[in-house]
Amino acid sequence: MTGRVSQERLQAEIERFAQIGRTAEGGVTRLAFSPEERQAQQLMGELLAEAGLSVRTDAIGNLFARREGREADLPVLMLGSHLDTVPNGGRFDGALGVIAGLEIMRVLQEQGISTRHPLEVVSFTGEESARFGTGTIGSRAMLGTLNLERFLASRDLHGISAAEAMRQVGLSPEKVTDAQRDPRQIAAFLELHIEQGRILETEQKAVGIVTDIANSTRLAVQVIGRADHSGTTPMPLRKDALVAAAEMVLAVEERVKALGEAPSVGTVGILHVEPCVMNVVPGKASLGIDIRDIDFERKARVVKGVKDRITAIAKQRGVEATIEVLGDGRPVALSPVIIETMRQAAADLGIDARIMVSGAGHDAMNLATVVPAGMIFVPSKEGRSHSHLEWTDFAAIPPGVELLLETLLRLDRSL
Ligand SMILES: [Zn+2]
Repeated sequence: MTGRVSQERLQAEIERFAQIGRTAEGGVTRLAFSPEERQAQQLMGELLAEAGLSVRTDAIGNLFARREGREADLPVLMLGSHLDTVPNGGRFDGALGVIAGLEIMRVLQEQGISTRHPLEVVSFTGEESARFGTGTIGSRAMLGTLNLERFLASRDLHGISAAEAMRQVGLSPEKVTDAQRDPRQIAAFLELHIEQGRILETEQKAVGIVTDIANSTRLAVQVIGRADHSGTTPMPLRKDALVAAAEMVLAVEERVKALGEAPSVGTVGILHVEPCVMNVVPGKASLGIDIRDIDFERKARVVKGVKDRITAIAKQRGVEATIEVLGDGRPVALSPVIIETMRQAAADLGIDARIMVSGAGHDAMNLATVVPAGMIFVPSKEGRSHSHLEWTDFAAIPPGVELLLETLLRLDRSL
């Protein structure tokens, strides 16, 4: 380890940003397009400006800070993550990647290092889908792949539309398309993030080098049975929507587990029952199913298996089931060139790295479809994330940031 980055400075910034939207439990709430998210973006802009970068906010609310390179015509090397969080989330998810970008800019400034390529630190807005059901809003808007009509009309729990939420923080929904950038302006994208899982901790590895990012298929299933009196309806005559739904939940688990070692996962995270009272046989149940994999074809097979089982269970129980596909994302492979650069750099720096896949989605998965992209993970305590209990030891952070810096400098020479 060469020790160019400062653990103290990284810790101080993580603690500073953890104060913005701080919750009683010690977590952080900075939802997409909330005043708290904007405040964090604003502060980050000021710190990056102090580090000598020129800062701007685009039409969707992404923050970009640019440091010119020696060769003016070259596309930018971009690095960053996001500063928004889920409700009562952790202080590391997203923020760490942006703070790492800030730290690297400070190191380059201190050491008087110039690069061939211009560099940009980015803090993408609205990476988490927690508020409007759409995630990675900022990177999608930048790449022109955000379904604008649907996004702007989507509403949060309080009935506030995304368009209204944008206006409330001074952004113009009419201008979102101005955020689009030509991918040819970007030479590569690098994102440092916490693992949000427990592989690195379990195997005592310092960092993860990510090869693939899993993507999900999301299904909304409506089960329609018959609401009847729970005292007077004999068991054989019931069309209990919840009992059918319960079998469907187990079917999801069973179909995914049947794959054995594959990194496929399936979750029923939503289950609503109607009318949801003690003395009525449930007449309606709705489920939200999330199935993820790094292999698109294997994911498609699992999804088909789940759909077939749902149909069969409904038929057997005499209820109706409708299945709506809410999303069917393609897993993405990250750049082999960047993975190899990271692997070499880690070996040269003496950083113990593990090659791994990401089960969680990140802005890097959008960038990876059009530009070379790479990701580095640092360990998460007990794999906790999207929780106020999310933690990464401060001493475990510098190796990831060093590797990010070294990768950036090597790509600057090779690309
Ligand atoms: Zn994140």
